[in-house]
Amino acid sequence: MAELFYDDDADLSIIQGRKVAVIGYGSQGHAHALSLRDSGVDVRVGLHEGSKSKAKAEEQGLRVVTPAEAAAEADVIMVLIPDPIQAQVYEESIKDNLKDGDALFFAHGFNVRFGFIKPPAGVDVALVAPKGPGHLVRRQYEEGRGVPAIAAVEQDATGNAFQLALSYAKAIGGTRAGVIKTTFTEETETDLFGEQAVLCGGTSALVKAGFETLVEAGYQPEIAYFECLHELKLIVDLMYEGGLEKMRWSVSETAEWGDYVTGPRIITDATKAEMKKVLTEIQDGTFAKNWMDEYHGGLKKYNEYKTQDSEHLLETTGKELRKLMSWVDNDEA
Ligand code: NDP
Ligand code: MG
Ligand code: MG
Repeated sequence: MAELFYDDDADLSIIQGRKVAVIGYGSQGHAHALSLRDSGVDVRVGLHEGSKSKAKAEEQGLRVVTPAEAAAEADVIMVLIPDPIQAQVYEESIKDNLKDGDALFFAHGFNVRFGFIKPPAGVDVALVAPKGPGHLVRRQYEEGRGVPAIAAVEQDATGNAFQLALSYAKAIGGTRAGVIKTTFTEETETDLFGEQAVLCGGTSALVKAGFETLVEAGYQPEIAYFECLHELKLIVDLMYEGGLEKMRWSVSETAEWGDYVTGPRIITDATKAEMKKVLTEIQDGTFAKNWMDEYHGGLKKYNEYKTQDSEHLLETTGKELRKLMSWVDNDEA
């Protein structure tokens, strides 16, 4: 069973006794910086020249300096910028400002797990990752609650790295909900696998294939859109609330029977064999290397895929149909 930690297991005064730099002020960065500050922690935000989020951070009462200045001032440095640029910012602004006893923190293990960032031996290296987007992390904190988080230590130079990570997690509300102990390897590999095989990749491909099958058989795209994409939210909400059981309790018996007999014909042993190959390529670093090559090579294929899918009948149909849905929060109309 997973090891869980709550408020009583964490000592807030540890992080209150440190100087924290939050590098980046995006989804996670704003939530961490504001909640650390509200928890009585000495925090500064490190942002690059020409940063779009600088004005917002300052408006919200935070002191903004360059990433290098923030890293030099602080003894806990939390890196909250996009994963593909972290190694470059680390080389340029953080590395030379690390002293023995400092702590380098992340919210995702990607760069450390795959060796793009190699922190020096005298530094604690840990991970505190809320299991939710930044705006939810911040809102829950403000409401006196918290989003569950995971924490891990990759390198324990001081012997106190995990207590420091728990203290940090407490300051952003994580231990109010519960913090699960993990490792950089487990967090990184399961995160990549989940988003590729199930959450993003698997789901997108399933929705597209179902939609195409109906449209190719002569059904109207609008009807196919409702059946294969729109209604997915209802199903996922039920799973989120009560697992597969609540979903199956809520749908008709006919839908439930179809679930049992047809699901395994769609996701077959061959699909699972391919999932295992995907996992192997994540574990051996192939995926990470290919993605970094693509990113730093100008995102050519990435942009091709993006354009292709934005022109797909599923997307153009959805764009029109969503105009009929006054309750759907979108900025397309
Ligand atoms: P964002 O994409 O929201 O980060 C954007 C921030 O990074 C902005 O402040 C941006 O500046 C800044 N930035 C961009 N380039 C640079 C640079 N060269 N130097 C300094 N700052 C720069 O990141 P997320 O919050 O999504 O992700 C941060 C980390 O958290 C990642 O490791 C991610 O995997 C992890 N994570 C994210 C979650 C999420 O919900 N998004 C959930 C859990 C973990 P500006 O725009 O002002 O120019
Ligand atoms: Mg991810
Ligand atoms: Mg139906």
